[in-house]
Amino acid sequence: MDPFNWTCPYCGTATTIVSDHHWVSQADIASRSKFLAPKLRVESISCPSPDCKGLFISASLHRFGLPTGKTEGHYALREKYAEWQLMPRSRSKPQPEYIPEEIRSNYLEACLILKDSPKASAAMSRRCLQGIARDFWQIPMNRRGNLGAELSFVKDQVAPDTWDAIQAIRSIGDIGAHMEKDVNLIIEVEPHEAELLIELIETLFEDWYVDRHKRQVRAAAVKTIAAEKLNAKKAGIKAPLAPEGGEP
Ligand SMILES: [Zn+2]
Repeated sequence: MDPFNWTCPYCGTATTIVSDHHWVSQADIASRSKFLAPKLRVESISCPSPDCKGLFISASLHRFGLPTGKTEGHYALREKYAEWQLMPRSRSKPQPEYIPEEIRSNYLEACLILKDSPKASAAMSRRCLQGIARDFWQIPMNRRGNLGAELSFVKDQVAPDTWDAIQAIRSIGDIGAHMEKDVNLIIEVEPHEAELLIELIETLFEDWYVDRHKRQVRAAAVKTIAAEKLNAKKAGIKAPLAPEGGEP
């Protein structure tokens, strides 16, 4: 297989995978099931970073045979019946430690239950949003309680498109978080919708926490440089005086 670009789900390194870090195999499966001529495809990738060496494994069940509707051709893996990501368990991305632990763990949980319960995952993303709003925007204690009221506190401080994203997380998350008034009315949350919410949470991490951290690091670096220049300037003023016999 040709080398391909891959981002490690453990360390976040974007890298190019060549054949010695990539393996695909096919396994035979009990065939007298409702699945026609099934085979299991197992794919594994090892992270080339020497500090990580993380292992990714996924499996998928396919029909093995001729192309659909054809009576000749070559036998190969065809339609996919199901797929599973085995290692790591979820699609979560590593997040920096300066994001509070509780917020990161809500995010991890939203990722972990995404496939099995998109509705619960959406509720967890909503909780994550509330944690972010409280922590990042320092919502005062007396304004805390109802998420809608908490969010209105930050409305004027965020860009309109970010605000729309926040509203989407909140309203879809509401479906999972609250029992509908009519219990017979069940609104489903589709996996791709819950996944979108997770991506929006990741955008908030990036736009707010990561950006702020970068600004702080840059400001600290500039401060250090300014202090060094000032010291050099002071030393420079003294220096020309030195050959004439020191300070007056
Ligand atoms: Zn890695």
